[in-house]
Amino acid sequence: MKTFHHERHLRTAGGLQVTDITEDVAESVRESGIQNGIACVYSPHTTCSVRVNEFENGFLEDFATLLKKLVPSNEYYAHDDWDKRTENICSEDMDFGNGHAHCMSMLLGSAGESIPIRDGELGLGTWQRVLFLELDRERDRRWLVQVVGT
Ligand code: ZN
Repeated sequence: MKTFHHERHLRTAGGLQVTDITEDVAESVRESGIQNGIACVYSPHTTCSVRVNEFENGFLEDFATLLKKLVPSNEYYAHDDWDKRTENICSEDMDFGNGHAHCMSMLLGSAGESIPIRDGELGLGTWQRVLFLELDRERDRRWLVQVVGT
């Protein structure tokens, strides 16, 4: 059993920007030399997430519209209420409230995806891509890939 770890950095544009990171993940799998196993792709952020789905502008627009409807940014969020909040004080959050982005991230589920690897290739379906979702404003971000297998 082998393991391989890689970390990538990106600057997002904010506003529910979706970045297709499939080729970077596939490159890490090739670099790992692992033929059969699993690639865990993970966002170490509370207001981003990694998802597998289609990278098609119409769908991405529909999903952004749905998310904004479910979690409007102009509602009250206790996370952004500095008369009330006492934990994890961070100056960036004081400047730009992001309670809505945390709620979006929780609704989306886990922070990452696990993708099977067979014969050195990601086992994605025809239209499946690995997507990095920015749910907050423009920020410096990173994602991790851990490849485990033989
Ligand atoms: Zn926050």
